[in-house]
Amino acid sequence: MIKKIGQCNSLQVLKDAKLSRTSQRVAVLDMLINAERPLTVIQIFRNINFHQKIHKVTIYRILSSFVAKDIARGIPTDEGINYYEMACRHNPVHAHFYCKSCKKMFCLDPATSSRAIELFADLNGFKIEALSLNITGVCSNCNKGGSL
Ligand SMILES: [Zn+2]
Ligand SMILES: [Zn+2]
Ligand SMILES: [Zn+2]
Repeated sequence: MIKKIGQCNSLQVLKDAKLSRTSQRVAVLDMLINAERPLTVIQIFRNINFHQKIHKVTIYRILSSFVAKDIARGIPTDEGINYYEMACRHNPVHAHFYCKSCKKMFCLDPATSSRAIELFADLNGFKIEALSLNITGVCSNCNKGGSL
């Protein structure tokens, strides 16, 4: 599991992406930068509303603009929920594991993706442009001893 958090400066990220620094954008971005795991809109909404009032729709819109600007990436689940994480150089593309039981999205080591790319490396004429590898299952914590 990788866990590189809090390395980007939200104001600098917004400046580089040429997005204006609204307090709401900064709040959402700070949450993504400091998150240990990818977050859902609901998780961001609950946390931010503790400090300042912000509409769920606004959070959706902010996240979409972040994805469009390559600041963040969305990770879909079978259950139709999207998780979001930083797409910065501290967080290169990697595979994810989604636990159906506790609804947590885990980031897997980037090597998981490189290995998948290596499988194609020998096939002449194929050029990989994007790779997403999302695994669904039950995490080690939820899998322990079959408790309720
Ligand atoms: Zn970063
Ligand atoms: Zn779990
Ligand atoms: Zn991740």
